[in-house]
Amino acid sequence: MYDFAYQKPSSVADAVKALGAEDAKALAGGQTFIPVLKQRLNKPSVVVDLARLGLAGIKVTGEAVVIGAMTTHGAVAASAEIRRAIPALANLASMIGDEAVRHRGTIGGSLANNDPSACYPSAALALGATITTDRRAIKADDFFQGMFTTALEPGEIITSVSFPVPAKAAYMKFKNPASRYAMVGVFVAKGPAGVRVAITGAGQGGVFRHAAFETALSANWSADALAGIATPADGLNSDIHASAEYRAHLIGVMARRAVAAAG
Ligand SMILES: Cc1cc2nc3c(=O)[nH]c(=O)nc-3n(C[C@H](O)[C@H](O)[C@H](O)COP(=O)(O)OP(=O)(O)OC[C@H]3O[C@@H](n4cnc5c(N)ncnc54)[C@H](O)[C@@H]3O)c2cc1C
Repeated sequence: MYDFAYQKPSSVADAVKALGAEDAKALAGGQTFIPVLKQRLNKPSVVVDLARLGLAGIKVTGEAVVIGAMTTHGAVAASAEIRRAIPALANLASMIGDEAVRHRGTIGGSLANNDPSACYPSAALALGATITTDRRAIKADDFFQGMFTTALEPGEIITSVSFPVPAKAAYMKFKNPASRYAMVGVFVAKGPAGVRVAITGAGQGGVFRHAAFETALSANWSADALAGIATPADGLNSDIHASAEYRAHLIGVMARRAVAAAG
């Protein structure tokens, strides 16, 4: 690690002020950020810990599930309220990493990081979530802008995420057996914004929607409606874990399983 200053403010306003310093960086669960610091891939002047801002918590109404940015994956997985309103979201959280990662990792950190293999971006995109920050509300459609890239401005802090409650939804992940990140993850939803299908783990540009699946499922919400719709391998990731062609195949398999699970 390089030397850096450490601050733990107790209000969002103070945190935003601290993040105004050149090369200041926010710290949430540290599951990505701390390894990055250890590997000297980032050299912040000051690390601003978000732990004391009161950003953890879950609020469920008839229409939406609102999750504070510092809420851990473990808390989402264990929430009976979320399991009742959007069981797919609780299931997704329960499948992230291992218990240690779920105990520290946060939903705000996951969305801000926008890892191309992360699970939450697919839920946010498929459910038409709104990401609220210290200064504005950003639709998921506008938030994810490519691998590890989001609409967040320097020093902008995610404070909460609101997921509209869908009629049906499910997430299926073909996980990397070592890290449990998605080699391919598919989130399907039929909700207020219509039928939406978001794919993670596969796209070179990060999470993306699958237009052909959405059209087919809008006409006929059944796993059979996806049979015969091939996903082109062009633009998909190819690495030591899976070729682009294999990922294209997995997208179809995971999508059919997700629709069947959503019922
Ligand atoms: C072994 C391992 C396995 C994992 N498996 C999975 C998996 O299966 N699926 C999955 O989805 N993820 C997985 N993860 C990722 C993990 O779940 C975390 O979500 C992720 O590391 C980031 O969350 P964090 O709270 O730890 O953020 P941090 O590591 O603290 O921060 C990550 C980045 O986000 C920024 N940031 C954090 N919070 C905010 C905020 N509120 N506003 C603005 N910027 C912010 C930070 O400045 C930093 O740049 C895994 C991680 C590990 C180490």
